[in-house]
Amino acid sequence: MKLTDLDPRWVGHGGEGVSDANGNPIPRRERIGIPFDCACGCGSPVFVPFRNPIDGGPAWDKRCTWERTGDSFETLTLKPSILRVKVNGKGCGWHGFVTNGAIQNA
Ligand SMILES: [Zn+2]
Repeated sequence: MKLTDLDPRWVGHGGEGVSDANGNPIPRRERIGIPFDCACGCGSPVFVPFRNPIDGGPAWDKRCTWERTGDSFETLTLKPSILRVKVNGKGCGWHGFVTNGAIQNA
């Protein structure tokens, strides 16, 4: 399976009219992470924020753990693997890899 089969999108953040809780404007960021449809077929989206966003800025969330290589959906590699944690019995528990644009189950 390929990442491009799972309707991936680039996500940005901030920009005109967006401010933090203290009213400070948040600068526009591009390509800070990607959502894509879960590879298990459960229908829920997976969101993966990048530790090293494509726009060269800092991670949007300091807890980010996914290192990105590649700057297109066809070449993207994310490390480490992606594990969807089950919480209170909910969640699909999918575990897999995105490597050079391909999806592999763990
Ligand atoms: Zn799933």
